[in-house]
Amino acid sequence: MTDDPRNGLDPEDWSAFRETAHALLDAALDKMQRAREGRVWTPFPAEMKAAFDQPLPEAGLSGADLSAQLEALLPYGAGNTHPRFFGWVHGSGTPQNLLAEIIASAMNANAGGRDHGAIYVERQVIRWCRELFGFPEGASGLIVSGTSLATVVALKVARDARLGFSIRTAGLSAARLVGYASAEAHACNARAFDILGIGAGALRRIPVNARFEMDTDALRGAIRADLAEGLQPFVIIGTAGTVNTGATDPLTELADIAAQSGLWFHVDGAFGALARLVPGLEARFEAVSRADSLAFDFHKWLHVNYDAGCVLLRDEALHRRAFSDRPDYLKAAERGLAAGNPWPVEYGPELSRGFRALKVWSQIAGFGTKRLGEEIEKNCVQAAFLGAKVSADARFELSAPVALNICCFRYVGAGLEGAALDALNEEIVVRLQELGIAAPSTTRIGGRAVIRVNLTNHRTQLPDLELLLAEIASLGDAAAGETA
Ligand SMILES: *Cc1c(COP(=O)(O)O)cnc(C)c1O
Repeated sequence: MTDDPRNGLDPEDWSAFRETAHALLDAALDKMQRAREGRVWTPFPAEMKAAFDQPLPEAGLSGADLSAQLEALLPYGAGNTHPRFFGWVHGSGTPQNLLAEIIASAMNANAGGRDHGAIYVERQVIRWCRELFGFPEGASGLIVSGTSLATVVALKVARDARLGFSIRTAGLSAARLVGYASAEAHACNARAFDILGIGAGALRRIPVNARFEMDTDALRGAIRADLAEGLQPFVIIGTAGTVNTGATDPLTELADIAAQSGLWFHVDGAFGALARLVPGLEARFEAVSRADSLAFDFHKWLHVNYDAGCVLLRDEALHRRAFSDRPDYLKAAERGLAAGNPWPVEYGPELSRGFRALKVWSQIAGFGTKRLGEEIEKNCVQAAFLGAKVSADARFELSAPVALNICCFRYVGAGLEGAALDALNEEIVVRLQELGIAAPSTTRIGGRAVIRVNLTNHRTQLPDLELLLAEIASLGDAAAGETA
């Protein structure tokens, strides 16, 4: 067999490749520089869908064709890079992150373990997070895809710590674990119960008060009732910033109850916990530092480009016992590439993992916590502004107090009620999205459909919110007229 004259999968013509790469970088930068322009969301057109509905290719594309197909995707994001994206909880990303992604991709590091740069960058990020949230020196952490996976990791440690680590091999068998979260808690918590074999039904949903915060008397009652039934309560999940309204559970009280009852205290701080960076809000999030585990995202309110989240564990030893097994081929060493222990693989379910840490490091190092906190604060001020505008206008009705960065309200100016009013508000949101004007989302509060405006967007400015309200009112009147 003769030697293949090609250069493996590397370019045969590096100067042509450089040219293509530079042009593509410029296209990406243009897209980012023009984040404010044009439509918020542009549906993926039929011809683009067709371009991504092709049979498995035997032969590869030319460099020019591949590059053209990549560039053609740029207009079709979800819209979260636009200043009038207000849906769900999406971060808006930064151009600066592109630089870190280029370097990470060029290094192509596998951050599951071994002794190399990515491992030390991730440790730096975890140490910063420990400091940010007031976790002790010995606390451990792991960068993951997002809060959903962070929650699975955290609750696995909590589960194994409660039942004894032998269940890692023996399985759950006769365990009857139960846990507690508010009725407003994110679905990822019940899903983690499901994934961990505890069962989503074993997550008790505790009612909330008028501010959508967990009712701690009801929590105490639920724990007592479960103990009386011979069940095994093991975790209280507090939310710092709920998805529906931005409410934060009374974390200090939850930490106290967990301590008194010998339960694990987990905090879902996906976006809200970062509001700790806002002067004046520290007290609300102070007790995050008492959590046994914390799950949160970098890709929401810290605007790291998707995806990146984090789990922090107060007790490194428990964390490691829940995940560590080092078969022969992953054995630790004092020297050489197998040094640099402990490895990330000992703290989570993944062995091979990308270099997410670099873009997180770059975001925090590049902007600093003060600057990042100012953007968070700006969003809170904007939410309050929107809430005040809505409250002062008879055509709107505020649906929940503005606790942080989310404003839920309804357009009531068309004189509709009940199911017709629900349908109208849902229709308004869909039209705003389809017209490319803005992208809020909807939720239900007190059984009623509402327009939900979430502000985790560093590009949003007050005129964007004024425009949003004006458009809602005019679309609302038009839509009501059509259905009347
Ligand atoms: C977004 C969110 C989650 C899930 O986080 P992902 O990063 O999407 O996995 C969990 N909890 C809350 C409160 C959230 O806002």
